[in-house]
Amino acid sequence: MRILSARDESVAACRAAAGRGTLGFVPTMGSLHDGHLALVTRARAECDSVAASIFVNPLQFGPHEDFDAYPRDEARDAELCDRAGVDLLLLLQRDEMYPPGFATTVTQAGHLTGVLEGAERPGHFDGVLTVVAKLFGIVGPSTAYFGRKDYQQTVVVRRMIADLELPIELVVVDTVRESDGLARSSRNAYLGPELRPAALSLVAALTEVERRFEAGERDAAALAGVLSAIVQEGTGGRLDYAQIVDADLGTPRTAQAGQVAVVAARVGPARLLDNHVLGRPLGPFA
Ligand code: AMP
Repeated sequence: MRILSARDESVAACRAAAGRGTLGFVPTMGSLHDGHLALVTRARAECDSVAASIFVNPLQFGPHEDFDAYPRDEARDAELCDRAGVDLLLLLQRDEMYPPGFATTVTQAGHLTGVLEGAERPGHFDGVLTVVAKLFGIVGPSTAYFGRKDYQQTVVVRRMIADLELPIELVVVDTVRESDGLARSSRNAYLGPELRPAALSLVAALTEVERRFEAGERDAAALAGVLSAIVQEGTGGRLDYAQIVDADLGTPRTAQAGQVAVVAARVGPARLLDNHVLGRPLGPFA
């Protein structure tokens, strides 16, 4: 594995790899776990070369969010990437990503970026889309791998790729969970054992929503109500949102397989997200 810490050598190495065959790309903010590694494994299986990036993107954090506290461990991350089969690991620095004079922001219509996470975190998706567009420009991948865990992110990146005619295929990889069902997240590092029951209320609520959907419940508001009630109770009222959404983040009246139950809540110092595609198996968990 080559570690690339300068923009110019990153561009050259990625162009060379893309010239030899397909190039898969896994963008991350580091503090890698099995969820990230599932994206790398999928890219490894499907592409001739695999590039990954680690960059804690300041643009996507709000002023009172956890940019400074966000867990960072580049040496361990590099080791994990190497073992998982990454060929090119980009470790770009802030002044190379956003040099003096950098003036462009990618924004997207509010019905996609002003709801759910975007309502809770104004400007978040401008930051995400800007860094993803920039990384796509540096890497030039044929396929980019994103996790379904950040469902809204997959929707807005898919929209950007389509709207800007970017010649990149998007692959969305299923959420990797711990044995008790908790979705893997770098922010799980903020959770002590005493917060585990509250954190697990998200997956418990999604499991119950799926159970009711399988039992025939098709009233989306009723399913969202179940999701909301369980997470409100589990987190002591710290729910941010609980909804059933479609592929364009609209809120249907009638629930259908393929729509997504999305939930976010605060647990201790962590903000946790989770979701579940209706009609798919979920659990059981230990
Ligand atoms: P992050 O480092 O949090 O920006 O995440 C980088 C990529 O890994 C994003 O595409 C995430 O959706 C994905 N990801 C994070 N957690 C998981 C997980 N538990 N399962 C699958 N993908 C994940």
